[in-house]
Amino acid sequence: MQRDLDALADGTFDLLILGGGITGAGVALDAVTRGLRVALIDKGDFAGGTSSVSSKLVHGGLRYLEHGAFPLVYEALHERTLLLRNAPHLVRPLRFVLPFYAGVRLAPWQWRAGLTLYDLLAGRGNIRRSRPVAARRLLADLPGLRADGLRGGAEFFDAQMDDARLCIEVLQTAALRGAHAANYVQAVHFERQGGGFTSVTAVDRVAGAEVTIHARQVLNATGPWVDEVCALAGEDGVPHLQPTKGVHILVPGRGQSAALLLLHPRDGRILFVIPWLGKTLIGTTDTVTPEGPDDLTVRPEEVAYLIEAHNHYLGPPVSEGDVLGSFAGLRPLIRQRPGEPSARSREFRLFEGRSGLLSVAGGKYTTYRAMAETLTDVIARRLGVRHRSRTAELPLDGTPPEPWAEFAPQAAEALRTRYGLSVEAARHLIGRYGRRAADVAGYVERYPRLARPVVAGEPDVQAEFAYQRDAEMAVRPDDYLLRRTRLGLFHPELLRAAFERVESPG
Ligand SMILES: Cc1cc2nc3c(=O)[nH]c(=O)nc-3n(C[C@H](O)[C@H](O)[C@H](O)COP(=O)(O)OP(=O)(O)OC[C@H]3O[C@@H](n4cnc5c(N)ncnc54)[C@H](O)[C@@H]3O)c2cc1C
Repeated sequence: MQRDLDALADGTFDLLILGGGITGAGVALDAVTRGLRVALIDKGDFAGGTSSVSSKLVHGGLRYLEHGAFPLVYEALHERTLLLRNAPHLVRPLRFVLPFYAGVRLAPWQWRAGLTLYDLLAGRGNIRRSRPVAARRLLADLPGLRADGLRGGAEFFDAQMDDARLCIEVLQTAALRGAHAANYVQAVHFERQGGGFTSVTAVDRVAGAEVTIHARQVLNATGPWVDEVCALAGEDGVPHLQPTKGVHILVPGRGQSAALLLLHPRDGRILFVIPWLGKTLIGTTDTVTPEGPDDLTVRPEEVAYLIEAHNHYLGPPVSEGDVLGSFAGLRPLIRQRPGEPSARSREFRLFEGRSGLLSVAGGKYTTYRAMAETLTDVIARRLGVRHRSRTAELPLDGTPPEPWAEFAPQAAEALRTRYGLSVEAARHLIGRYGRRAADVAGYVERYPRLARPVVAGEPDVQAEFAYQRDAEMAVRPDDYLLRRTRLGLFHPELLRAAFERVESPG
């Protein structure tokens, strides 16, 4: 995937997508595999918005059953099955433990009924059936779990992903099939041409130059920025969104193999404590905020809210000093009738403006492929293209041809012996790049010093940076450290040092 601004100015595209989060990336892949000429631009890095700050769950969303959102849960569970098959290196099954406590908002029978329904909705794609677990076993499994009030619990399976990497790999797969994608290119001006064509003026934020992109159809897939871009195009009828803010914190891992689904002791909201990349991810908050998508910050009271829930259920307690990193995102939820933020629908809607601009609002990460299929159906109809979506059967580029369970151990062993990588680094590369791990390790053959870890104690190796520069369009330090590797999330000192180097070279 190369950053080629000249290609964007070349001729007329069938479809120009604004926004390289998972929504835009999903449509780019669907559209290009139907034979459309596709361009995609993002004003920052790919996945630089909401698509790198999610809870990293590919899930049906047990909690949506509470609100009767059965079709949404059914669809999400189906998409989970497809993702486990089409991107097994980036999406993995994850065991969840759900402890039942006396006196909380939801009684054990309600949880059990919900889990039975969840199993049924997953159908043949169910990873493993949920089952009850005795309090005694829960405490043996999770020694730090609060025993007071524990009335047993349940275990079920969902899936976990690396959100930023999945988004980048969807884009990479689209680029390999002919889509032109560029990061750091911001749409700043729209002009309606005769015959239904639109030209979009965009600014290359790396070189500072302007580029005019011509397209038969423009899709605004800018997530929390959707209303801002609609306004830029002179659309009325905005706002479409009523976003809510979600914060996560990362604390050191404690060898916990399962994720925990808990109810916050203060307000009964669902909260996750999830093992991720050897650390523990705790989230999330869900609040209405006056902050815009460009100026989100993590506030001390949001960190305190998450720590409070963790420490209510789990010991030894964590303190603010234990927090390795934190991040915030805006859920681009569609504006609906007033209600609790968590209860708002995760469904999506397509809006057509007077200028012909199509804008998509809402959705969730898990269902990005199905959403892209629906959106591309509409776009293809408008463009007179009859091909149907192929993405349900389309493995992403890193997916090996053989079953993952067979591929992963053999490929890791081959990397270890051929390139002299540690077992941990070899497994890590396979788990992140799948079939393409050999391309990354290829840099070690040429430059053996790149086999070294980026930072002691983490499996990421320096060769990844070279690969990310050459094949994944990494431009700025945070592209490498926050999205293509995730090291900057829990080693903020790396990010600070990298920016200092860039700002004062020499
Ligand atoms: C806290 C939190 C937790 C979540 N957890 C989960 C979860 O576990 N599972 C799940 O399924 N879903 C989850 N979601 C939802 C999911 O993350 C989002 O629905 C999804 O990432 C939205 O993707 P998007 O592409 O629509 O938006 P974004 O990822 O925000 O992408 C929009 C892009 O548009 C670009 N852009 C903006 N303006 C312009 C412009 N003028 N020109 C060009 N580009 C522009 C931005 O730079 C940005 O990259 C979570 C959301 C949040 C906030």
